[in-house]
Amino acid sequence: MKRDEGLELSPRKVEYLKYIRETGGTVKTSRIADRFGVDPSTVTKTIDELARSGLLIHEPYHGVRFSEAGREYAEFLLKRHRILSLVFSRFGLSGEEACREVSRFESLVSRAAVDRICRAMGHPSRGICGEITHATCGLGTPAGESMGRDAREETG
Ligand SMILES: [Zn+2]
Ligand SMILES: [Zn+2]
Repeated sequence: MKRDEGLELSPRKVEYLKYIRETGGTVKTSRIADRFGVDPSTVTKTIDELARSGLLIHEPYHGVRFSEAGREYAEFLLKRHRILSLVFSRFGLSGEEACREVSRFESLVSRAAVDRICRAMGHPSRGICGEITHATCGLGTPAGESMGRDAREETG
């Protein structure tokens, strides 16, 4: 699966991955079903597709967790959500409204566009609903080049 563009996943899959990322660790599919108010069998089907794509590891009776690739991809999903909702919040929406509106279309915005918007905004370190990391937009800490995490602190 090609993951470069950021346009590979449906909105539902994006929401599941963001939720799993925010929950951390291993998450039971029944918990995902509860959270999104859908049938557990529907969740299992979607989760299995994500597992086949190599993003998740599904351990029956235990739950799902990220593969290495999945963790990286989820970082991008959170960043995209937070950059875009920051834009909306700067143009009149409340934080909550911005998050909600962006969740409807974020899966259609490419990685390249997100990185350029991030750059134009001066690489903000905080979004409305959490931290923004910059590993993908030229501000990250390439392995071995810098010690300590995020030595660069944006003000504001
Ligand atoms: Zn949000
Ligand atoms: Zn950035």
